[in-house]
Order: sequence, then C-alpha cells, then structure tokens
Amino acid sequence: MPEAFNFDLIIIGGGPAGSAAALYAKRANLKTLIVEKDVFPRDKICGDAISGKSMSILDELGLLNEARKLQGCEVESITFGSPANHVINIDLNPNIKKNIPAGLVIRRQVFDSFLFEKARESAALSIEGFKVTEILVKNDFVYGVKGTNKKSSEEVTYTAPVVLGADGYNSILARNLGLYDHDPKHWVVALRQYYKDIQGMSNQLEIHYIKEAQPGYFWIFPLENGYANVGVGMLHETIKSRKIDLKKILADTIQSKAFSERFKNAEPTEKPKGWNLPVGSKHRKNYGNGFMLLGDAAGLIDPFTGEGIGNALYSAKYAVQIAAKAKAENNFSESRFAEYDNILWQRLGNELAVSSRLQKVGRMQTLLNFVIGKAEKNTNVRDIISGMMRNDIPKQQLANPLFYLKLLFT
Ligand SMILES: Cc1cc2nc3c(=O)[nH]c(=O)nc-3n(C[C@H](O)[C@H](O)[C@H](O)COP(=O)(O)OP(=O)(O)OC[C@H]3O[C@@H](n4cnc5c(N)ncnc54)[C@H](O)[C@@H]3O)c2cc1C
Repeated sequence: MPEAFNFDLIIIGGGPAGSAAALYAKRANLKTLIVEKDVFPRDKICGDAISGKSMSILDELGLLNEARKLQGCEVESITFGSPANHVINIDLNPNIKKNIPAGLVIRRQVFDSFLFEKARESAALSIEGFKVTEILVKNDFVYGVKGTNKKSSEEVTYTAPVVLGADGYNSILARNLGLYDHDPKHWVVALRQYYKDIQGMSNQLEIHYIKEAQPGYFWIFPLENGYANVGVGMLHETIKSRKIDLKKILADTIQSKAFSERFKNAEPTEKPKGWNLPVGSKHRKNYGNGFMLLGDAAGLIDPFTGEGIGNALYSAKYAVQIAAKAKAENNFSESRFAEYDNILWQRLGNELAVSSRLQKVGRMQTLLNFVIGKAEKNTNVRDIISGMMRNDIPKQQLANPLFYLKLLFT
C-alpha cells in the first residue's frame, strides 16, 4: 500500500456513471481522478433515450436546463405496439405545466461529451485516451490503477483508497476482481441504426413488441432534424438458443407490412451496430475491499425497458455517498462498501424485480396483444397504463395476474 495516495477517488470510465460520480465527488469534497479510454466526442451504441429518472438526477446536479439545449428531441409521449400490430399512444407528461419534458433523446456522442465536460470541471484531474490495463491490489485491497496514455504511450500508475468501476459492461475492475458475470439469462444484445426521414415521426418514443423479437422489442426514437434512432434488442439466451440473426430481424421488421410504408423514403446513416446490456434481473455483487462497481459494470439496466442511464446515474450518487463516508471513517473495507449495495438495491431493487417479471410477461405475445388491443379501444385502460408510466400507479400491478382479470371487465 502506498504511504500517501495521489487521490481520494479514482473513477474508471467517463460514461454517464463515471461523469456523474465525478460531479457528486466534487460536492463531497473528494479529490478525484477520472480516466476514460476514448477521447470525446465518442459514440456509444444506445437508444439515446434519457428517461424521467435521468432527468431528476440531471435536475439535482443543476444540469437539466443545459441538457435541454443540446441537439436532440424532447419527448412527451410513448407509443406501444403489440405483436399483432395494435398501437396505443400514452401521454408521459405530467410535468407539462412545470415546463419540464418527460424525457429527452440525445445522441450519446453529444450527451456523454456534455457530461464529461462537466466532470472535467469537477475532478482534480481528468484524462481522456487513458486505458486502464491493470488494477493495483495489495493485501486483498484495491488501491489504484495502471494504464497507458494514448498520446504519449506512457504507462502511468495512480493510487487512491477507493476505485470506482464505471467502465461499462466489459469492466476491467469487475473482471480483475472476479465479479464479471456474463449470464445469457440476464444479458440483452441490441442493435442500433441511425436513420433519416422516417415518415410519421413526432415527439414520441415508439416501442413495438414485434413477435420476432420476444422477449425484447423494436424501437424508433425521434432525434433532431428528422433523424431517428432505430433498433432492436433481445435476451441473449433466446438469441443463442434459437440461433437468431438480429440484423436480419431488424432489416425484416423495417421491410415488414407494418413499417415499410414509413421507411419508404428513409435512409440509414450507418450500418447496424451491436452492444451488450447486462440487465438487473440478477443482483450481482458490486463492491469489495477498496472498490465499487457502477452502472453497466454493476449490471443495472432495466430488463423490461432496456434503460440503463438513469440507474447508472443513481449508482454514481450512492457510490460517492459511501466513498465519502469511508474516507471520513478511514475504513475502505468490503464491509464498509456493503452499504452501497444496500442503498442501491433498496432504491432500485423493487423496480428491477417488477421489470424482470414484466420481461417474462413480454414473452407472452397473447398477453401483450390483449393489453395493448384493449387499451387501443378503451380510454380507461390507456389511463391506467399512462399512470403506470408516470409512476402514479405502481407498475407492480402489471406483473400481477389479477390486473389482467380486471382488464377483462374494464
Ligand atoms: C443498443 C442499446 C440501446 C440502449 N438504449 C438505452 C436508452 O435508450 N436509454 C437508456 O437509459 N439506456 C439505454 N441503454 C443502456 C445504456 O446505454 C447503458 O446502461 C449506459 O451507457 C450505462 O452507462 P455507464 O456509464 O455505466 O457505461 P458506459 O456508457 O458503457 O460507459 C463506460 C465508459 O468506460 C470507458 N472504459 C471502458 N473500459 C475502460 C478502461 N479500461 N479504461 C478507461 N475507460 C474505460 C468506456 O470507453 C466508456 O466511455 C442501451 C444500451 C444499448 C446497448
């Protein structure tokens, strides 16, 4: 262990989790280093949807107004399409009077650069183009990182009593500490393809539970100036067992009867690109002596919606809270960091459990056809779903068999 540490906190990764952690660390007076292997602006394969949960953290960090000015699209409603192509539109915007949009869609190339810029202002030192290649461990405690600087090709070592792994699904920290867990039952694979000029676009997210991608969905999210983020995602276990070609599903869906007219004059601006989503239908271990894992490195993506940015931001907030307590108590042991896991799963656990059950409901096409078909004809049912999307009505109801019985008589 070094006699004196260089920093209070080292953050590996400058995505939403890492950048938010740097911002919270500044508030907690922690001397922080943040390192990112790429150089901003860099792309990240994503649906680019920034949900209400993310908006509340952006608001708390005083960044919401600036984020709204970034190039993108403000979202007010969501469309759900059933496997039988019934479609319902749900108003997401309870805050319209407060003039806060329900959500934003901003390319991650833009959004992550914005957040990292704020992180740079908050951290004692920020280094882009610095890839962590080794985690320093002594007497079973993580105490720093070794990495290579792209520009100078120089290998450098930095030390801190707390290291945060905000380095995505393939986290070097998780791998080196034996916590990497690629379980196809709790892992989604998704493709994104940017398009221009799809017909019938408005300020709404579109999620279509097409029968070819169960459990999973096809999405169309609006971006700036007629651009859109299009993609499809599915549970890895199903892709493997059914030897599914996700690129073919995406291409076939776009050419299908339900969508071909809308894509008639549309042009893709890139080839489909894939990425992995470790979903929180499994509670993975995310801490140890001297370290905590955040965001995708901790496998916190919502299994039903595929949203991970909001949970990544929350994990940053809680990890920094505990890092500050650890510093105050001079206790960097695994038992100290267990509190991070407690707080995180207290806040997110119930929601993730409900979403895991909903993911299973999503496998039942008949049920999806029934709910969306019913809502298409019935305003009361649409209101119930709208309430759930806004969290006015607990989502647990959707995972409860009695809910469907009730719908029969609604
Ligand atoms: C196709 C797809 C669609 C999605 N759609 C949505 C959506 O619409 N809304 C939503 O909320 N979520 C969505 N998600 C999930 C979301 O993208 C992730 O949950 C989110 O990016 C997690 O943020 P993070 O900061 O934990 O990790 P990341 O965003 O992956 O950031 C990790 C960072 O760490 C850096 N890094 C990695 N290794 C090292 C290293 N060794 N040294 C230094 N730096 C390193 C990486 O370069 C990266 O910048 C989607 C995911 C996919 C794949």
